[in-house]
Amino acid sequence: MEWIELDGSRGEGGGQILRTALSLSMITGIPFAIERIRAGRKKPGLLRQHLTAVQAAAAVCGAQVEGAAPGSQRLRFQPGPIRGGDYAFAIGSAGSSTLVLQTVLPALWFADGPSTLRVSGGTHNPAAPPADFLIRCWQPLLRRMGVTLDIQLLRHGFYPAGGGEVLASTVPVTAWQPLQLEARGELRRQSAIGIVAGVPVDVAKREMQRAASQLGVLDEELRVLPSNEGPGNVLMVVQEYANITEVFCAFGERGVPSETVADRAAREARLFRDSGATVGEYLADQLLLPMALAGQGSFTTPALSLHLGTNCLVIEKFLSVRHVFEESDGVVRVSLA
Ligand code: ATP
Repeated sequence: MEWIELDGSRGEGGGQILRTALSLSMITGIPFAIERIRAGRKKPGLLRQHLTAVQAAAAVCGAQVEGAAPGSQRLRFQPGPIRGGDYAFAIGSAGSSTLVLQTVLPALWFADGPSTLRVSGGTHNPAAPPADFLIRCWQPLLRRMGVTLDIQLLRHGFYPAGGGEVLASTVPVTAWQPLQLEARGELRRQSAIGIVAGVPVDVAKREMQRAASQLGVLDEELRVLPSNEGPGNVLMVVQEYANITEVFCAFGERGVPSETVADRAAREARLFRDSGATVGEYLADQLLLPMALAGQGSFTTPALSLHLGTNCLVIEKFLSVRHVFEESDGVVRVSLA
């Protein structure tokens, strides 16, 4: 069988190129070779999160793998048949457990039986989907596409300590439904979730208060975690529309006032609210793979991000789908030809 060759530094040049390739290689059975993995990043090559995704993918389909080592910028992956079962993977750092979950889950939708997947590591990381995002935003849309999926957050994990855990159960998909997201519907509820672990409760309270002053009245949920799950602090603004839910987050940092943290999440939330798009930038690039597996679908998003464009290119290498982008009324409509 012909191998797919990928340049990991192309486009956005991040770990998503590798993760999408792993998922689609398992599903299609097509082997791939990737060079220059994350070549332009400060710490190039495979970090623990990426390496765990490779090892997890290999375990699920009995793949033959070359180059799976820390810092490696080259990988060869030859998949075998996907086997359902009970799997557990530990990243061993605060690397994002949700990104590992998103790599392996699509393969399990094509397995020979039901599966559970347990991943430990970070659950609330900057530059990755927080577990709450997967549960509130991504999972409901997948269920509408015919996927049986239940994701649970068992324990929070923050950078740098990690130690969090997510658990997903799924079964093979029998009938894919196209996802047609033409309108997001009315905004039904806005809430703020303030999480603190080993950080004064007042920090989360100030963040939620500030977010409310920026966005109007917000329902509030305060999560005070045991200090051994920290230190960590994140503010998440949740917008529940009739057809979709979006989550915007910002992380507390030493030396950064709580108000500034809240302003970051509130700004993203306000921009999305004002945009009229059906999904935000992050949800957009995370919907592409399931949408392509369903073979049909569309959504609108505020802009064509580099992640989105790069992910489309990787998907088009493995599947015979073509993405169409149309710009109108200040949003980009993404659909499959
Ligand atoms: P690197 O860019 O260092 O290689 P990486 O492998 O961790 O990092 P990326 O390739 O950048 O990852 O992909 C990050 C993923 O996380 C994307 O799918 C993006 O949509 C998602 N993401 C980033 N920030 C958020 C956020 N705040 N909310 C939801 N999803 C997010």
